[in-house]
Amino acid sequence: MLLIHDGPTDADGDTGADTAADAAVPRIGGVPLVPEGFVWPDCRACDGAMQFLAHLPLDGSAVAVAVFFCQNDPGMCDDWDATGGGNRAYLFTGELKPAAVPAEGETLLGAVTALRPHPADTPTQQPVLGRLGGEPDWLQNDETPDCPRCATPMAFTAELEEGDEAAACANFGGGGRGYVFTCRPCAEAAFLWQC
Ligand SMILES: [Zn+2]
Ligand SMILES: [Zn+2]
Repeated sequence: MLLIHDGPTDADGDTGADTAADAAVPRIGGVPLVPEGFVWPDCRACDGAMQFLAHLPLDGSAVAVAVFFCQNDPGMCDDWDATGGGNRAYLFTGELKPAAVPAEGETLLGAVTALRPHPADTPTQQPVLGRLGGEPDWLQNDETPDCPRCATPMAFTAELEEGDEAAACANFGGGGRGYVFTCRPCAEAAFLWQC
């Protein structure tokens, strides 16, 4: 299942539809939806607050993945690495509410881009910004992470493209791709990117 821009794209590359920053839809950017007691993740390398990258509801919103990575000093915090401490992915269940955003750091993208699932085998005029399920399309070697709890290889869940709008898109090193993995029994998620 492809993830594409939601709505028509105008000449400036903006989406036609305005998406709320806290909309419970698949999106890149905006404010994370989190459970009670959530603590915004800090980067292990620079100690700064990470940037919220993506909200990805799964199973019709019963479960959602939230992806964060450090953009305080791009390229310096190993934010591509699944276990380096420069990114963080969560698998959330239950009631989720907009998170309180830290006052310091590069915490939010400059725009919200809603993503709409689209059958992978039908053509689309909209930019493809990712994929749900299937097999990972590795740009480099297979880097499937092991679950930090049960140590078994995690299940591939989603892929994110970098996109071409500077303010709205992820920084994956220029033409890179992000990979989201989950371990449902352990309620864990992991993220990495390659370029
Ligand atoms: Zn950092
Ligand atoms: Zn596990």
